Formats: sequence, structure tokens, C-alpha cells
Amino acid sequence: MWEAAMIPSWARSLLARLTGDVEDDLSDPEHLRALVEHSRDVLCRLGPDLCIRYCSPSALSVLGRHPRDMVGQRPSIFVHESDRNIIAEAAIRTMRGEDIEPTTVRVPRPDGVMVWIETSTRVLRDRAGKPSEIILVMRDVSDRHNLRLRLEMEAVTDALTGLSNRRAFDTALRREWGRAARYDSELSLIMIDIDCFKAFNDRYGHAAGDDALRRVGAAIQAVVRRPGDLAVRYGGEELSVILPRTPSIGAERVAHTIRAAVEALSVPHEGSPHGILTVSLGVATAPGRTGRNLTMPDGLLVGADGALYRAKAGGRNRVETIVLLAPHGDRRAA
Ligand code: GH3
Ligand code: MG
Ligand code: MG
Repeated sequence: MWEAAMIPSWARSLLARLTGDVEDDLSDPEHLRALVEHSRDVLCRLGPDLCIRYCSPSALSVLGRHPRDMVGQRPSIFVHESDRNIIAEAAIRTMRGEDIEPTTVRVPRPDGVMVWIETSTRVLRDRAGKPSEIILVMRDVSDRHNLRLRLEMEAVTDALTGLSNRRAFDTALRREWGRAARYDSELSLIMIDIDCFKAFNDRYGHAAGDDALRRVGAAIQAVVRRPGDLAVRYGGEELSVILPRTPSIGAERVAHTIRAAVEALSVPHEGSPHGILTVSLGVATAPGRTGRNLTMPDGLLVGADGALYRAKAGGRNRVETIVLLAPHGDRRAA
């Protein structure tokens, strides 16, 4: 049996509170200390010099640092270099008496783990109403943050191939065309379609088809490595590559490399005249100077599709290219 004396006073007052047995247990310093010391959040008091005067014990589990090592320091020095100004500015503005929204910063722990910390600040005032201290609350929101990053990533990723998806494609094509027009650079687009893929599914089954699609996707991704290039599953068995700042000759070279890489996979395909799985590719390039033409990215798609059609008609496992020049009448200021 529990003896009353065995129960710590903070637990007793908590129990009392829960059972409605007490009127004002916040006047009990023991209880207040328990709340602070058992909080999962890291609670700090900062002085007017913005240095830490007190730091609660959870700093050890959340930030990997002993509170005594934090006292006397400014909180910003524990924050990731790139985020330091965020927390420093929040502290300064709070001390000025401004009401600050919570901010999220990265904190590298001494054990090498990076945690995402949401910080909120509140000012305390002296009797004259002058800001005298800041209460800083640090909460580990890494799980929430990482989940958000994962969801954001999933929203632009094709689940089967791991390439970017159609949504990412639409955004990137518009963005890159805007850049091409602004900087007068060339933008290239490759449309890629697996040859006789219906026959592949019919012969080997849908699961084998999915696997082949995955392998083709990986082969394309292995070729497209320059930062800014984007490999996409456009839909079904159609894939695509956006190549910013790439002239026609360079894009054509990439397309030939992709064609050869898929051929080199040597995936047997008895339903194809080539005997193995192959792709056809249509390459379109638009020089940026042809206009800040708002309809242009779509024109690039139509051009690449037309080139792809020619590659199919020409016997498949081929690359066809088109260079687009927007007609003068089509030039419109963006
Ligand atoms: P072509 O050489 O003219 O492109 O012939 P094709 O058979 O590839 O063209 P078609 O458009 O007639 O057929 C495309 C087929 O691709 C239809 C479907 O069976 C297959 N396909 C599309 N998406 C997927 C997918 O996600 N997984 C699998 N396994 N097959 C798919
Ligand atoms: Mg198709
Ligand atoms: Mg096809």
C-alpha cells in the first residue's frame, strides 16, 4: 500500500488538483518546480543581456546538453549556423516588447543528430513595466517536421519509379521556361515512351511491366545527373526529362545516351521487333530569345510529342529532334 509520505509533494498537489481538492496549488513552489523539471519542453529564462540564466533539465534529452553548460550563453550559439539570426532576432524583438510568432530552427546536438526545435518567446516585465526577462520555450518538433518534409516529397514523387511526378513536371517546366526567357538561355525537353509496352504487359504480366518501368526510370535517372535537370514519369509508360540551359545538340546527346542505357538493360521482350525492351524519344529545344511567350512551355511539349511520334513512325528505339522558334506574332511580354 502507498503511504501518503511516499508520494512526492508535487504528485500530491497534482492529485489534489485532479480531484478538485485544492484551491490554488500554483502557490506551491514545489509544484511549480515539478512542472518545470518534468516538462518535455526545455524552459529557459534569459536576462536582459539575452544570456541564459536558467535552463530546465530536459535540455539534456532534447538538445543533448547539460543545462549547466548552457547557462551564461546566448541560445543562438546552440542553433545551426544558418538559423542563428532567426532566434537572435526573435530574442531582440521580444525584449523590445514585440509579440513574436513561434519560429522553427535546426539545432545540431553534440551526438551529431540534427533536431528541429520550435522556439517561442515571451517577455516578463518588472514592476515599472520594463522588459526584464525572456521566457524561452524550446520544443522538439523533429517528428512533425520530418513528416511534413516526407509528405512534401511524396507530393512531387512518382511512387512506382521514384522519379518526379507530373505535378513536379508542370511546375518545373513553367519555372524553367520563365528562366530561359529571362536569361535568354535554351530549354530542352525530352519525351520518352516505352516501345510496344502493351505487348510486354500482355506477355509477361503487369507486375513484370511495373518492374521494367522501374528499371527504365532508374536508367534515365542515372543519365540525368546535372543539377537543375529533372527526370519525370509523365504518366503511364511515358517519361520525360527537362534540361534547362541545354542547346539542341546537348539534349540530343542525352536522349541518345538514355536510348542506349535502356537498350543495355537487355530486358527480353518477345513482343517487340527488337527482341528487347526499348524506348523512343522526342527532343524539343526552344531558344529563350524567341519570346517571353506565355504559351511557350506548352509549345515545347507539343514539339517533343511530334518528334516522339516521328521516332515511333520511323521504327522505334530512335531519337528525333525539333528546334522550335516561336513565330514573331507569338511574342508577348510576360
Ligand atoms: P508504342 O510502341 O506505340 O508506344 O506501343 P505501346 O504498346 O507502348 O503503346 P500503348 O499506348 O498502346 O500502350 C501503353 C501501355 O503501357 C498500356 C499499358 O498496358 C502500359 N502501361 C501504362 N502504365 C503502366 C504502368 O504503370 N504499369 C504497367 N505495367 N504498364 C503500364
Ligand atoms: Mg504511350
Ligand atoms: Mg509505348
